[in-house]
Amino acid sequence: MLNIKPIPAFSDNYIWMLQKDNSKQVVLVDPGDEKKIISFLENESLQPVAILITHQHYDHTGGVAKIVKQYPQVKVICSNSIISDSPLSIDLPITEFITQPVSDGDSVEIPELGIHFNVIAIPGHTLDHVAYYGEGALFCGDTIFGCGCGKIFSGTAEQMATSMMRLSALPAETRLYCAHEYTVDNIGFAKWLEPDNKDIQLRDEVELAKQEKGLPTMPSTLDIELKTNPFMRFRVPLVKQAAEKFAGKKLQNDGEVFATIRQWKDSEYD
Ligand SMILES: [Zn+2]
Repeated sequence: MLNIKPIPAFSDNYIWMLQKDNSKQVVLVDPGDEKKIISFLENESLQPVAILITHQHYDHTGGVAKIVKQYPQVKVICSNSIISDSPLSIDLPITEFITQPVSDGDSVEIPELGIHFNVIAIPGHTLDHVAYYGEGALFCGDTIFGCGCGKIFSGTAEQMATSMMRLSALPAETRLYCAHEYTVDNIGFAKWLEPDNKDIQLRDEVELAKQEKGLPTMPSTLDIELKTNPFMRFRVPLVKQAAEKFAGKKLQNDGEVFATIRQWKDSEYD
């Protein structure tokens, strides 16, 4: 059985660790903080065999150099279109560590764990953003958050809307592993946008209860996000109408609706 465990980092990041049964070999997703990871690996006598990177932002890549130094056999899998493209990026020299540059449609094999992932290019948050899909799980970095989405840095709203539609087509039971714990805050905006949505009201109770117990709200499922996440619901007539009311005009396409919802949330629901 594949266990997927969150290792909290910084104030609200999750570094996901994948482990098959009780094997000592593990896979890390977006290790932004090497201190947390290396001490965890040492304490548990674990050996990282691969690192999956969703995009270049420092809080997803900042630990790569030190992890590779300590575990030189580890494979580093990353988009082949890494670029320094936003104010949040720092020019991390991770390109020298990449052992498998990937692009849309590629397959990533992890023979040590007997698992593999398909690479899905999902530009929008950044141009280089990819997701890894396999084993019923989707590692979606900063694209889908619980009841929300990442901000648009180097990509466009049109790209983000297209990426969301691509991910929407995956099986509804797909488990979503995003990189930040923002769900409860995000639900506040979702409730504001769709006050009569019973699924959002129910989710609010469920996620608040988890938060009060100190539990992660992730993974969620695609099914839950499709029912509650405004950034995956921009084609729902009521959501589109709410966006048009905020914009004060008819919105012509998915990109315009998506951009308006993003702008609305960024303006703190005013
Ligand atoms: Zn990011």
